[in-house]
Amino acid sequence: MANNIVEEEEEQYGVVLYYKYTSVPDLNSLATFYDSNCNSLGLLGRVRLAPHGVNVTVGGKLSSLQKHIEAVKSNSLFEGTDFKLATCHHPSNDKVAKESGFTSLSVRVVKELVTFSSHPLLKSPEISNAGKHLSAVEFHSVLQSAGQLLDKGSPSYNKKLVLLDARNLYETRIGKFHTPNVETLDPRIRQYSNLPSWIDNNSKQLQGNCVLMYCTGGIRCEMASAYIKSKGAGFENVYQLFGGIQRYLEQFPEGGFFKGKNFVFDHRISVGSSAANVMGNCLLCGSSFDDYSPRCRCTYCRMLVLVCDSCQKVGALYVCELCKKHGKGVESIPSIKDENSQISTPIELEGVSPSDHTTPLAQFPWRHGEVPDLQENSESYACMGFGRMALVSKEELHH
Ligand SMILES: [Zn+2]
Ligand SMILES: [Zn+2]
Repeated sequence: MANNIVEEEEEQYGVVLYYKYTSVPDLNSLATFYDSNCNSLGLLGRVRLAPHGVNVTVGGKLSSLQKHIEAVKSNSLFEGTDFKLATCHHPSNDKVAKESGFTSLSVRVVKELVTFSSHPLLKSPEISNAGKHLSAVEFHSVLQSAGQLLDKGSPSYNKKLVLLDARNLYETRIGKFHTPNVETLDPRIRQYSNLPSWIDNNSKQLQGNCVLMYCTGGIRCEMASAYIKSKGAGFENVYQLFGGIQRYLEQFPEGGFFKGKNFVFDHRISVGSSAANVMGNCLLCGSSFDDYSPRCRCTYCRMLVLVCDSCQKVGALYVCELCKKHGKGVESIPSIKDENSQISTPIELEGVSPSDHTTPLAQFPWRHGEVPDLQENSESYACMGFGRMALVSKEELHH
């Protein structure tokens, strides 16, 4: 008996993340499978099922996660799925565990895995037209030999290489790619659904160039790269980092060209390379700081902000960079009554659809046109089960 308890305590905890774009013939039976499989294995987290795919982030005992993966793999729908399994500590920060959905199991059928645009008229682009996948090693070597992406003989030769970070501002604050010869475009957006309009407004920076995109785990680039390509002439050369920053850091544990930490959407908060340089700064005093575990948020838009330990004060009001830019200041914040504390904090889930939770938006002082969806439809930091059909060949890359 005593032995069993010891063994149980010693058993390692982990998270698995994966996604798969595929046509799901029977959503209900797949939901039933997830419900019973995860429950019987004691897994907690989020499962999102849509007619065109699946996006999963669950945590539990490592051995249970392995059993889960085996069970999922036996379904032919998941052929080629990239399961990202990581060991980590058991969720210790209750607030973060709750926000990231690690206190319960939630299996939901949704319309879209990631909400690409908040604009009701913008149709989601065809995933089958997504940018070519580059493995972490390929991505790295393209950056390393910047400028030599294309064959001298090809009409695309001389195209400029640009890196596009498809993530949100609170993520890029603490880490992104920095390459000596390649500019990293950081859209500085609050949420993924703002990315299409950023692309529209900045298409000149992309057109005619080779665009290398990346995000946390890959899912956000699938849709966004397809959107860029849908713009037509001059937008053909779009590549995406297969498996995202997560796979890149596994391949380059010292960080490679990625500096800082990788923001993740589970209780780990962020994952760094062994170099783990601190890239972020305290919003108030500017000191070097990149820890989101205090969960400080902008009073206006609820986006996460970095506030260092000595600047944190109970009941303080914080105004993020974006709100500041739009003329909001601490002085102009209307009196905030208790009701605001009932507003559930936005849950940054990668791949959660807006129908997932309801929040009383009306009480909050967002200006017209700036209301964030409280679901961060961030990427599912889950994986790329997208198959390798679009993978660029080495020959194509290095000529
Ligand atoms: Zn500070
Ligand atoms: Zn804000």
